[in-house]
Amino acid sequence: MSCSRSQALAANEFELHREEARNALDQTIRLAEDLIFDPDGSLRGSKNEAQIRSLLLKSFPNESLGVNEVMTFANGVFKDNLRNYRHPLHFGHQRPGPCLASLIADILNGATNATVSVFEAGPVSVSIEKTVQDWFLELFSMQEGSASTFTNGGSESALTALICAKRRWLAENPDRDFSEARLLIGEDAHYCFVRAARVIGLREEQVHRVWCGKQHDMCIRALEAEIEAVTDQKGASVFCIVGTAGSTPAGTFDDIKIQRWIADDCKAWLHIDASHGGAAVFSSEYKHLIEDIETADSFQFNPHKMMWLSPPCALFFVKERRHLELALANDLSQASYLLNRASNEHEDLPDENLEVTLACTRQFSALKVYCAAVMYGIRGIGQRIVNACKIAEKLAELVDNDPRFELFMSPAFNIVLFRPKQFAGYDKELRCLRDDIANENRIYLTGTEVDGSYWLRAQCTSENNDEAHLACVLDIVSDYANQEKFNNLRGQEVFT
Ligand SMILES: *Cc1c(COP(=O)(O)O)cnc(C)c1O
Repeated sequence: MSCSRSQALAANEFELHREEARNALDQTIRLAEDLIFDPDGSLRGSKNEAQIRSLLLKSFPNESLGVNEVMTFANGVFKDNLRNYRHPLHFGHQRPGPCLASLIADILNGATNATVSVFEAGPVSVSIEKTVQDWFLELFSMQEGSASTFTNGGSESALTALICAKRRWLAENPDRDFSEARLLIGEDAHYCFVRAARVIGLREEQVHRVWCGKQHDMCIRALEAEIEAVTDQKGASVFCIVGTAGSTPAGTFDDIKIQRWIADDCKAWLHIDASHGGAAVFSSEYKHLIEDIETADSFQFNPHKMMWLSPPCALFFVKERRHLELALANDLSQASYLLNRASNEHEDLPDENLEVTLACTRQFSALKVYCAAVMYGIRGIGQRIVNACKIAEKLAELVDNDPRFELFMSPAFNIVLFRPKQFAGYDKELRCLRDDIANENRIYLTGTEVDGSYWLRAQCTSENNDEAHLACVLDIVSDYANQEKFNNLRGQEVFT
């Protein structure tokens, strides 16, 4: 690698001069613009991890290589090996290409590094975070006394929920041991709940998975049966039920109203994981999917999913603020450096932000929400969600009308599960088919196991996943399914 003296930084000079900086920023913005507005290039470069790593610096360089080296890297290795989330044939994971408002906020955040913990250190950031939290409490129809916190993602929200539930149980059952408490989660619950359960000290047998029924939401009969099984065990009781609004495998929604009744009945904390589906709040057409969410003791929502914001941008909501305080209150006398003022003129602002989150440093992600709200409004964000769900519906319809394919279920939201018919019962081969498709990058799909068998999974989040490209999805998958190596499956096809 070469660099001229003027681009490299002198040892005693950390930053570029203004003109050089402007030039670098201009180039960066132009690249960002290309990435956003020219999504039709390749889905991904063809290099594997070892090949990409061979193009990166082997170790932390001793000396500056210069800003031009950064630009060469950005326009080369970085750009050429991206997974292009905006490509019309990208139906991958839940992470969408961020909207423009998100990019603008990220640039402002990147330039300022604003804190959200203490008003004195971040006056506008703390104020915006609080304002955005108030907006969400109103949007989700939360009652007086409710509260929320920004978190670094759904997994942190899940952990916060279980800590709150545990603290309440311990407070209500001062004479009992937590080993008697049981957690009930859906079969399709996100894996972060099992991890969070371990973190709060639950043993494996204290976590019960509740079967999901035909519509792939939590089966209420199974839930009642699990509760009965728990209460049959001497001394045991359910301390928390976790429902899902927008499940990771199939995008299905639990019946929150019934879960609320059942949780009340057994005095359990009800938490709803709306990491994915909480965005339905923006759409009058899909809002019914999260009806009654405000009655849950807590719920979580990730704007870094179906709000098209960059991660992290996630929130945790609690119906009664005191539970959050009980769970995460800090002894700030140990952090006297944060509380310098002799008198506090912004009484309700600074400390509050610190006492109710697991993390001390959090990204100022409320700025992304604020900018998106200003740029698109509820209607614009809602429209985008409707568009994504309509594409999913259209894809499901094509699958259903195509004799080559089988549809798992009619999509509730933006996720479609399907497979070529002859692969039913041949999970290993179907996984292999998915890998072939992913490796050649003509289309990007994930796969998932539901109900004990494997399905291809198309997640519609890109504004470029338009109808014109959908037929092409099925033809490409069919091409791969007809490879010679899968010939032995052909006779297996079930014509119904
Ligand atoms: C993505 C997701 C999570 C995890 O959120 P992270 O921000 O990735 O930690 C949890 N639950 C559901 C339903 C999700 O979709």
